[in-house]
Parts: sequence; C-alpha cells; structure tokens
Amino acid sequence: MATVTNPVPEQARPLFPRLMDKHGRAITDLRISITDRCNYKCVYCRTGNQGAIYAELPLAEYLRMARVFAGLGIEKVRITGGEPLLRHDVVEFVGQLSRVRTLEGEPLDLAITTNGHLLAELAQPLKQAGLRRVTVSMDAVDAQRFSRITRVPNGFEAVQAGIRAAKRAGLDPVKINCVLLRGFNDDQIVEFARFAREESVVVRFIEFMPLEEDRVWSPEIVVTLDEIVKAISAWKPLVELPHAPSETARRYTFADGIGEIGIIAPVSHPFCGHCSRVRVTSDGKIRTCLFSVFDHDLAGVMRRSSDQQMAEYIRGVINKKEARHHIGEPGFQAPSRTMVHIGG
Ligand code: SAM
Repeated sequence: MATVTNPVPEQARPLFPRLMDKHGRAITDLRISITDRCNYKCVYCRTGNQGAIYAELPLAEYLRMARVFAGLGIEKVRITGGEPLLRHDVVEFVGQLSRVRTLEGEPLDLAITTNGHLLAELAQPLKQAGLRRVTVSMDAVDAQRFSRITRVPNGFEAVQAGIRAAKRAGLDPVKINCVLLRGFNDDQIVEFARFAREESVVVRFIEFMPLEEDRVWSPEIVVTLDEIVKAISAWKPLVELPHAPSETARRYTFADGIGEIGIIAPVSHPFCGHCSRVRVTSDGKIRTCLFSVFDHDLAGVMRRSSDQQMAEYIRGVINKKEARHHIGEPGFQAPSRTMVHIGG
C-alpha cells in the first residue's frame, strides 16, 4: 500500500479573481468524486441493481483540476464518490493533494466522505498522506438494521472498526453522517446520541433529500430538524453551540459538554444563501448545485486548455450557480444525477 510522507509544498498559482457567484457567495469548498462505484446499496440512495454509470478519471486529472481551483481561492477539498476508498490509488491522491497550497500558502483542508467499510486499513496511511478529517456515513447503530439499509452483510463491524481506526490515526474530528427515514431508522435517534457520547464522535443527522435513484422521497418521509431536537431533548436536554453561517450543520451538545450532535436540514431549514460549494463528478463534470439539471464538462475543457483558460471556464460556470434549491415546491424538477453519481 502506498504511503506518502514529507510532501513538498506547491504554492497555488493565483488565477485571480477568486471565485464568487452572481449571488455574492464566495466559493471556497470543492468536492471531488473520484469514482462512481460503491460497495454499498443503501436503500435511500440506490436501486440495488444498478452499478456505476459514469467513468472515472486518472487521478492526475483530478489533481490538475484541484490545483486550478486552489488558484481560484478554494481552501477545502473533500474527496467523495461513489465510495472513494474503492480507488486503490486514493492514498497516493491524498498525498499529492496535500502538497497543494491555497492562495494564502496554507495546506488545503483535506477531508474524505466514506461509508467506512475499508477504513480500518486505510485510516493510518490516509492520515500519514495528509488527510485531516473523515466523515463516515452510518445510518443505524444496530448491526441488523445496518445490513438492511446497506444491503451488505456484516458491514456494521467493518465500519465500527473503521471509525475506531480513524480516531486512533488522529483524524480529527471523526464525523458520522446519518440520513433518517421515517418508519425506517428514526427510532435510532437517541441511540445515535448515546453513540456520539460514548465514542467521542460528532454525529450529524441529515434530512433526506430527493436525490435517490429509486424515487422514494416524499415530504412525509423526511425527519426534520425540529423532530430530531425534540426526540433527543426528551432523553437529555440539548445545548445549541454557535455555528459559522457557511456551516451546513446546526450544532448541539449536552449540559455536561460530552458528545456533539449536528443537524443538517436542507429541507426544513435551507442554507443555500450561505452555500460555498462546487462539485466535480467522477467523470470530470462541474455541478454547481446538488439539484442542478446541467453538468459542465470541465474534463473536456481541461484536455484542450491551459490552466488560465480552465480558470476562465470555471469562473463562467460558477457565475451560473443556482440561487437555491426548490425541494418540496410545485414544479420541482428532479436533478439530472442522483447523489451517488454526484458525490455528497
Ligand atoms: N460512499 C460515501 C459515503 O457513504 O459517505 C460517499 C458518497 S455518499 C452518496 C455521500 C453521502 O450522501 C452519504 O452520507 C449519504 O448518506 C448521503 N446521501 C445519499 N443520498 C442522500 C439523500 N437522498 N439525501 C441526503 N443524503 C444522502
């Protein structure tokens, strides 16, 4: 397995001006999907009988994109998928990304979102390569329920081992993302709060969005922020923590300060006005919003352009970033890709 140490910094080449959309939002956060493949078939995400649809690129191409984005003011890069740990060269990629510097000369804030199935072995090499933080998706704290959701046997033990390995490796914070579905795993809310306290991890509940392959979303199935706060507070009172406007999660702890809970509520409390994100899909397309109905072919442009030309293309695309999503409104138009094919 590749390990990467002592990276030589690469100062970002300024490609001013910094990214700003026409709604006045500074774009500082890039998410790159490095594969469309996933080893889980979560019921709220995938149909269970459809695999990867889109291609994946050589890592050198994502790296060139990341360098250009850094020259445009990107400060955070989150690697995602599909399932990013399925790429055998993911450690090498993190090592190369860790050499890239922001316009301020700082290392990028590097994170990964993973289902955690392969994390036990990879946490230490990833940390050594320069990864700072990890978010593990986990939708039940009960092994049987976990298999029913992921449609993979014995995943729960592997993910638990992955979470513990991430903590041992010094990835900090370790966040756990849980998507709640009414009647399916909403009885796990308090168990998750207990888990946050016992395992010293940040548990974040995410409201279910209409981004699934199977079209099972309805407003009724969404478990909202208010309901989650009520359920946990009935067990132990929550204390709200301050959060930055661009932060997606509302943050809470308990009176004794043990355990952190986050709630990401794009459906009941949208935060589009503070969106600082842009995404690149595994096949190298820019998505300006999870709910976009268009992709923008950055990979195609990259292969025939200089970095400066790429930067101009990216600026033009960012200028078209949607003001907000329209979940739950009459005439809502489904996005042209579902979550697993965008990169969450
Ligand atoms: N395989 C990785 C993982 O499991 O984290 C990365 C990709 S996964 C699509 C990214 C995140 O999107 C996961 O936390 C998943 O729970 C979340 N997700 C998928 N479909 C969603 C939906 N319809 N609404 C809200 N979150 C969703």
